[in-house]
Order: sequence, then C-alpha cells, then structure tokens
Amino acid sequence: SKCKKGDIGLIGLAVMGQNLILNMADHGFTVVAFNRTVEKVHNFLANEAKGKSIIGAESIADLAAKLKAPRRVILLVKAGPAVDSFIDQLLPHLEKGDIIIDGGNSEYQDSERRSKALQEKGIRFVGSGVSGGEEGARYGPSIMPGGNKEAWPYIKDIFQGISAKVDGQPCCDWVGSDGAGHFVKMVHNGIEYGDMQLIGEVYHLMLALGISQEEMANTFEDWNKGELDSFLIEITKDILRYKDTDGQYLLPKIRDTAGQKGTGKWTAISALNYGVPVTLIGEAVFSRCLSALKAERQKASSVLPGPSGTKFSGDKKQFLEDLRQALYASKIVSYAQGFMLLREAAQVHNWDLDYGSIALMWRGGCIIRSVFLGQIKKAFDTDKNLRSLLLAPFFLDAISKAQAGWRNVISTAVNLGVPTPALGTALAFYDGYRSERLPANLLQAQRDYFGAHTYELLGQEGKYVHTNWTGKG
Ligand code: NAP
Repeated sequence: SKCKKGDIGLIGLAVMGQNLILNMADHGFTVVAFNRTVEKVHNFLANEAKGKSIIGAESIADLAAKLKAPRRVILLVKAGPAVDSFIDQLLPHLEKGDIIIDGGNSEYQDSERRSKALQEKGIRFVGSGVSGGEEGARYGPSIMPGGNKEAWPYIKDIFQGISAKVDGQPCCDWVGSDGAGHFVKMVHNGIEYGDMQLIGEVYHLMLALGISQEEMANTFEDWNKGELDSFLIEITKDILRYKDTDGQYLLPKIRDTAGQKGTGKWTAISALNYGVPVTLIGEAVFSRCLSALKAERQKASSVLPGPSGTKFSGDKKQFLEDLRQALYASKIVSYAQGFMLLREAAQVHNWDLDYGSIALMWRGGCIIRSVFLGQIKKAFDTDKNLRSLLLAPFFLDAISKAQAGWRNVISTAVNLGVPTPALGTALAFYDGYRSERLPANLLQAQRDYFGAHTYELLGQEGKYVHTNWTGKG
C-alpha cells in the first residue's frame, strides 16, 4: 500500500519543534519531520515520536514529496539567516499555492520582506509568533499568525486545534498581513519584560519592608486569587517558596544580573521609531542592562550615599495592599502603552488589527496569560475604537481606586532609596497622559530661541511663528 501523506511538515527538531510536532500528532494530524542535522530526525522517530502519526524526512525533497497539496511547512529554527536558508532550499520543491510558515521569533521586518518576496513567487508565507515555551508548544501555545491571508483557511484547523483554549475559545486567530503576527508577538514579549520588571520591583520593596520570604510567597499567593491572577504571579510564588537541597531558599543565592535575547529591546526600539511613549517596557529593558553592571554596582554601593533613613516605619499590612494597587495600576498603564504601539504600527502598515482578538490570543498559553487580559478583551469588544485602555470604564475605575496606594508606594520607594523605574514611569506616564497642559511650551520656546524652529500659539494652531528672543539683529 502507498505511504500515508503528511498533513503538515515541520523543520527544526529543537525543543519548540519537537513539542509542536507531538502536539499536532495528538490532535490527529500527520506530521513530516525534518532537521538540518538529519541524525536528530532518526533519534526523534526512534524515541519521542514512536507510535505516533509522525513521519521522518531524509531531505527537503523527501519532505516535499511526503506532503499533501497544498504543502504546508512550518519552520522552527533559529531566527535569522537559517530561516532564509530553508526558504531557499524549499523553493525548488514547492508549487504555487504551497505554504511556508515561520514559527520562530523572527523580526517582523524580516517576515514582511519574506511575505512580499514569496507572494511574487506564488508561495504563501505566514510569519507566526508562538509563545508559551516548551510546555506551551507541547500542550497549547498562544499562536499569532500573520502574512498572506490566503494561507489561513489551510492552516486554521491545525493552528486553532493545537493552541491553548480559554473558555473553549482558541488563543489563536489571524492577526494581519505581512509582519503583523511577528509584530504582535514582539509586543507580547515586550509586555512580558514589563510584567517581570514590575514584579521584581515589588519584590525589592518587600525586601525593604523586612517581611519574610514565606510572607512574600503568601502575599503573591493571595494576589493570585484576584485581579492580578496570572502565570507570572503564580510562578513568582513558587520561586519564593522553593528551597534548595540544603534546605535554604534558592532565590537569594541567584546572581542578580538579568540576561536578554532581544525581543524586549526590539519593542523599545520600535516604540522609539514609531514615536509612541512605551516607557515601561523601555525601563524594563534598561533595568536589565543596569543589573548587568554588577561589578560597577558593587563598587558604587560602598561609595554613593543613599537616604539617611532606610528603614520602613509604616503599617506593613497596609503597604502590602498599596503595593498590590501599584502593581495593578502600573500593569494597566503598561498594557495601555503596548496597545498604543500596536495601534500606531497598524496605521503605518495598514494592518486591520482586532485588539480584542489579540487580547484573547494572549489570554492563555503564553507567558503573560492572565485574568486581566479577559478584561482587556471585554474593553475592546465593547469599544473597537477605544483610544486608550485607561479610558475604558473598567480600567478607569480600577486606576481611580488604586492611585492613592500607587502614589504612596512611589514616594515611599523614593524615600527608602529603592529603585522603582517601571512602577515610577507608569505613574509619570499616567500623570502626563491626564495633563491637559505639559511644559512643552517651554521646550518649543527654547527650540525657537536657539534654532529658530518656530512655535504655534494656543488657539492659532497651524500658524508657525518665530520670535527674536534676544532683541538682537
Ligand atoms: P533554537 O535553538 O532556536 O534553534 C535550533 C534549531 O535551528 C535546530 O533545529 C537547528 O538545527 C536549527 N538551526 C540553527 N542554525 C541553523 C542554520 N544556520 N541553518 C539551518 N538550521 C539551523 O531552537 P528552539 O529553542 O526550539 O526555538 C526555535 C524557534 O522558536 C526560535 O526562533 C526561537 O526563538 C523560537 N522560540 C523559542 C522558545 C523557547 O522557549 N525555546 C519560545 C518561543 C519561541 P541543527 O539541529 O542542525 O543544529
């Protein structure tokens, strides 16, 4: 009898690729697996893939020959040149209408370029963000596909089948054209940096309060039952509770320098490029950079003075509640900023983004998954053209209630000398955003003074005037 043909091919048998294949096989799809180092195909088939609807390929030609038409091939390889290399290798073996999906962490400009170039060749390209790490890939990731929409009907069942589900709804939907899927994934990662930084600052303040690590864990456990219910709060609780083999807590022994792979930085760079004040993610990236200066910080710690009184003297229980409010309010600001960036990029690229649907894609399966994203979805479902999340009634109410505690946290942190760049920039953004007047009139005057850049007068917008500020000719 003839060999059964595969529904979809996957190239790249590292953690993500292997787990996605197993996930697809569990959902009834037959997957053809290939890897640059072909030995890994053999190993995979002999072990993890044994007894499942998974077929090995010995070469790209073999992979193409084993797929049903139109062929669907997912790449899960290292982002960058490896993706272009596989696209080039695939092309001679594909026919018009076949589909290439890049599921790696590619830069959205690369996806945009690949989508356009492949469209000219009659090949349908999809650049898809996949989030949730190893566990997500295996049991249900958040998937954010974008690119050539003609591909969507051919991959929808597979993608929505294997994705995470929240209340029966898949955390995967078509995002938009060209690089939209990878852009949304990038912003997801940026928001993840922000959420992690906020929790880090809260932990720092808890240390300054002098509460025990057990109390910290209990506090996070408590918070996870309410508005802050999320994956990151939950794992923070677990991390705080974790004891090493010697019976001591592991966390305080971990070197306090954070690494990064770049997606947070890309988000901050694109925020600067698009001119959108995504200040919290920016601070989160810079905070990792500052943490990396461990040797300098060690020297400075014995030289640079802090405030004289560094002991907290207030009501600890009340302050913990204030901290919860500060975290919640800052998180609202961060997501408001992230969606502002999405809106601006959508306008520039002509992407028809559905913000409620994006919130649902992030609601489950990925690192930033939370109950909170359900509220964001509701806000955008209620008002598709919502300018800012801060203006949605639910969040406006939440921030109104949180702001007294939030302000107390920032002023206390300043007085104790505890750095809170993310919590602080969120409040500064909030106060800036709600200011009808900002001191930019002075900036304009200065620009006109030294560079004759001109300015507009209030009430006479569109008319640019210059003043001879010194009276000199
Ligand atoms: P990875 O370590 O990023 O990449 C390893 C895979 O890429 C292997 O199959 C490797 O083949 C192949 N590869 C590397 N350089 C190559 C080249 N120059 N030419 C051809 N193939 C090359 O694997 P991963 O961690 O599973 O991630 C895959 C993608 O998913 C990446 O884009 C990653 O950023 C993204 N991602 C990862 C996670 C995660 O939690 N790990 C989460 C979300 C997204 P060989 O076996 O032959 O070396």
